Amino acid sequence: MSIYLDYQAAKPVDVRVISEMTVYLNNKFANPSSLHCDGDEATDTLSDYRRKVADFINAPEPASIIFTSGATESNNLAIIGGAMRIKKKGNHIIISEIEHISILNIAKYLERQGFEVSRVPVDQFGIVRLDKLERLITNKTILISISTASNEVGSIQPIKEISDIAVKNKILFHTDAVASESIIPFDVQKIPVDMLTLSSNDIYGPRGVGALYLKKGVRVNPIIIGGGQEKGMRSGSENIPGIVGFGKAAEIMKSEIDDESVRLKLLRDKLIKGILETIPKSYLNGHPEKRLPHNAHFRFDYIEGESLILSLKDEKIAAATGSACSSKTLEPSHTLIAMGLLHEEAHGSLMITLGRDTKEEDVNELLEKLPNIVKRLRLLSPLTPPDLIKKYNEVNE
Ligand code: PMP
Repeated sequence: MSIYLDYQAAKPVDVRVISEMTVYLNNKFANPSSLHCDGDEATDTLSDYRRKVADFINAPEPASIIFTSGATESNNLAIIGGAMRIKKKGNHIIISEIEHISILNIAKYLERQGFEVSRVPVDQFGIVRLDKLERLITNKTILISISTASNEVGSIQPIKEISDIAVKNKILFHTDAVASESIIPFDVQKIPVDMLTLSSNDIYGPRGVGALYLKKGVRVNPIIIGGGQEKGMRSGSENIPGIVGFGKAAEIMKSEIDDESVRLKLLRDKLIKGILETIPKSYLNGHPEKRLPHNAHFRFDYIEGESLILSLKDEKIAAATGSACSSKTLEPSHTLIAMGLLHEEAHGSLMITLGRDTKEEDVNELLEKLPNIVKRLRLLSPLTPPDLIKKYNEVNE
């Protein structure tokens, strides 16, 4: 088993979640749409676990939670369903330049349907430029979708300020909270977003289940049509074991998130300090303070990120160059490019995301192995300048 430092890509399912789900996979398998007693019981189960997910984000009404198959579907429902619902009011949508690929591709889809999409730029730290956002708003703007935090560089967005701008201009506001949901609590009563995407696996629940929170009164057009489950907003027989797992994971996360956040921040800071101090020409990507407590994202001059990941793989350390969902493209990360990095700089990145099973020993091992890996790759690279090679060789002598 590797030292796993890629928690943004996938998380294990909590054992307490698994044991709670098991009974709903065999004994309590009924469909909540059935009229018999077992069906009634399934309906009660659905509402109990809907309440747990609602409580997780402090939503006053459990009915505001629509269960989906995951974050991608929730983003589709929010943005396509939301835009289609109010398209008579206007056809302009705003997202940020650094959204998750699911949102970038939804935006492209909507452009093909005749919507206009503006992409608000970010600063060098990956934080959305509020001044630019305000300037992009027109009387045709109907929806803004900006994630709570970057799923790559971990920069935390000024969501309250963005929400205030949306409220002031009477624009629907959606936020994808997946990148931050395991590490920063979100309270929809304090930040009154209209729509919010959640994913179960990102809080140590099972995959294949997620939710869209819809503030009371907010309506979207369904994108999956069928038997009318989830108040007609998401048809398909409810995934009761998945929803039970999601609800249980939400309940556990709500009680553990603050401690976990403090614990991981200490490890993350040790990692950042250690890497920047021991590896020459290494840089932290993203904001130094306004960043997710479990995220450390680096860039190393004269190195290709993928060779770094493969060298770490040989040492049984699992890390990433960026978002797993975008790993099929050979293009450099759109987030890093939007932050102003050059293509060659964006190719030399390493993304470390810590999680529940990360121990100090794991961080220590990375700190021990990484400087040598970087050095070896640089000594092989034609891009490394002679003075750095000389420096490395002097230390060897
Ligand atoms: N949004 C964000 C911020 C993500 O990190 C991900 C991937 N975990 C998604 C959406 C899509 O999630 P899924 O692949 O589970 O639908």
